[in-house]
Amino acid sequence: MKKPFVSYEQLKEITKEFPTPFHLYDEKGIRENAEKLYQAFSWNKGYQEFFAIKATPNPFLINILRDYGCGCDCSSMTELMLSEAIGVKGHDIMFSSNDTPAEEFEKAAELGAIINLDDITHITIVEQTLGKLPKTMSCRFNPGGVFKISNGIMDNPGDAKYGMTEEQIEEAFRIMKSKGVEEFGIHAFLASNTVTNEYYPMLAKVLFELAVKLQKRTGVKIKFINLSGGIGIPYLPDQEPNDIAVIGEGVRRMYEEVLTPAGMDDIAIYTELGRYMMGPYGCLVTTAINEKHTYKEYIGVDACAVNLMRPAMYGSYHHITVMGKEDAPEDHKYDITGSLCENNDKFAIDRMLPEIAMGDILVIHDTGAHGFSMGYNYNGKLKSAEVLLKEDGSAQLIRRAETPKDYFATFDCFDILDGMKY
Ligand SMILES: *Cc1c(COP(=O)(O)O)cnc(C)c1O
Repeated sequence: MKKPFVSYEQLKEITKEFPTPFHLYDEKGIRENAEKLYQAFSWNKGYQEFFAIKATPNPFLINILRDYGCGCDCSSMTELMLSEAIGVKGHDIMFSSNDTPAEEFEKAAELGAIINLDDITHITIVEQTLGKLPKTMSCRFNPGGVFKISNGIMDNPGDAKYGMTEEQIEEAFRIMKSKGVEEFGIHAFLASNTVTNEYYPMLAKVLFELAVKLQKRTGVKIKFINLSGGIGIPYLPDQEPNDIAVIGEGVRRMYEEVLTPAGMDDIAIYTELGRYMMGPYGCLVTTAINEKHTYKEYIGVDACAVNLMRPAMYGSYHHITVMGKEDAPEDHKYDITGSLCENNDKFAIDRMLPEIAMGDILVIHDTGAHGFSMGYNYNGKLKSAEVLLKEDGSAQLIRRAETPKDYFATFDCFDILDGMKY
């Protein structure tokens, strides 16, 4: 049984102050999880998590992670600007982008970020943009083919646009070494939302073996290996969650098997987790505002795909709790819909739930990562607020809801707002 991190009583209070829909985040959960992550990798001296801020680009939430030593993984200009605004700079920023505009390399270098190159052609671009290469550089690896673990294929890196081949990384390391780069990193992201303790250790093995080969062949100093993102969360109620302690131990075993015998046991492990850091610690709170009985039973809520795109985009499952009816029989089959003029604007299809009355509060689970941040403005729908449920039980607005004025702000003619009340 999946339970919301917030009680019905708490939500009744919170919704008095903040109208639905909004994303709610759980400070306690975020903290406990970050602590466990650092514990799991405490065997590695230089270990650091660089939170993939695209998952949840909110300064209040990133600042919570900063307490544990997390840096930021950025991949765009505004993500770099957000890191800068929070005071994250230097090697606390990993700039892992692709199809990168030159000015973003410039901004990354200005902040002293570690630049992780997606392609060998970027060496010239970085050199031309900055005048010379930074002392520390990283490259993203793509082994091609399919990535398998014991129970089957995990993902298909050969079809992915990211990263370089082994030959290209070797060549890139040689070129960069000849141009004065002193410290090197290797990065790869081969599978997304993995709900198995095997993914990270398997990936680590691939990267550790690559590191040994590259060090032998090119003589470069490899400083870190970045296992990137991809550790998943159990969106489904019957899924077994990952055990981060087991994952950390698995990576340690590979480290001792591959890197230690090669005399490379000073390499730092980095991670760039997004979903794992925030996913379960956010939910979308929404109110049932319409019901409709045609060929199916529909419940319309005041949130829509603009607030949470994953079900519409990927057909993703997000668990739903009807607050105050946790113990009621789930004997009604509903489609839970938003108001977009798009038939895929459904948070759930044929979902068995307790009977829903108008005004009921629904909690849509696991929206803490790639939830709010994937939002858009189709149908002129506005983005919701974000609220933090703090450890002391109080609620804090950490991003206000968009207003029509925000939505129209990119037009020059503001007359549209004249005489209107916003
Ligand atoms: C999206 C992304 C991540 C985080 O992925 P999660 O699946 O949220 O863990 C990390 N690194 C890079 C380069 C990414 O693009």
